[in-house]
Amino acid sequence: MKRDWLLCDFHIHTTISDGTLDLEDLVDFYGLRGFDVIAVTEHLHDEETLKKRREEGKATYSLKRDTFDRYLEDLKEASRYAWREYEMLLIPGVELSNDTKSYHIVVLDVKRFIDPALPVEEIAVQAREQDALTIAAHPCRKEGGWSEKSPLWREREKYGRIIDAWEAANRREIYAEVILSGYKFVGCSDFHKPEHIYSWKTLLYAEKNVESVKEAIRRGYTALHFYGEEMERIILKSSTAEVR
Ligand code: ZN
Ligand code: ZN
Repeated sequence: MKRDWLLCDFHIHTTISDGTLDLEDLVDFYGLRGFDVIAVTEHLHDEETLKKRREEGKATYSLKRDTFDRYLEDLKEASRYAWREYEMLLIPGVELSNDTKSYHIVVLDVKRFIDPALPVEEIAVQAREQDALTIAAHPCRKEGGWSEKSPLWREREKYGRIIDAWEAANRREIYAEVILSGYKFVGCSDFHKPEHIYSWKTLLYAEKNVESVKEAIRRGYTALHFYGEEMERIILKSSTAEVR
């Protein structure tokens, strides 16, 4: 297979955590829209956050240590379906969602459980040991003053070297400061429901296989691409699929 510009979304949630589409519907949703690569990245909260949410009577939807392997099995099956039906690559991922310390890190091509309560340095080490890739999720999100309280961006001098790539765009927000800092970057939907498809995506110059995709992100063969409603109309028109 030769390298080409691939339409990718590396940050997606389903009903397994707090998204609205189930895994199979999600694959159909992206497959019909002609995506080349997607990553399913469900929330995995730290114990402290879970405890707090329970005390506040809020829903807990996090992946768990003892069901993590099962989750990966489900993704493997979905990945086979995605390839068979749409020639779309589905990469297993997780969003380590540490709300206690205000950082979310997407791990791509995850193979084993990683405790989201670990320090960022240790998360990066464990990800590297399993040949997975780390992406700082929404590091400069304006909503809720996230960028001021998140150590990832505040202490970027330290973390810039150990995190593989940064979201320079999340949903409709764009973080020019990430690109100007020279970090490797991607743009992602942080998809939770169908309307979130209208958002920033990544165009990646790679072969359509997991190793090539990871290598292209590490090397920065990326471009930001805004996927809007017009774009969708053109793509769906060319498929016989029914519009959701
Ligand atoms: Zn997040
Ligand atoms: Zn997310």
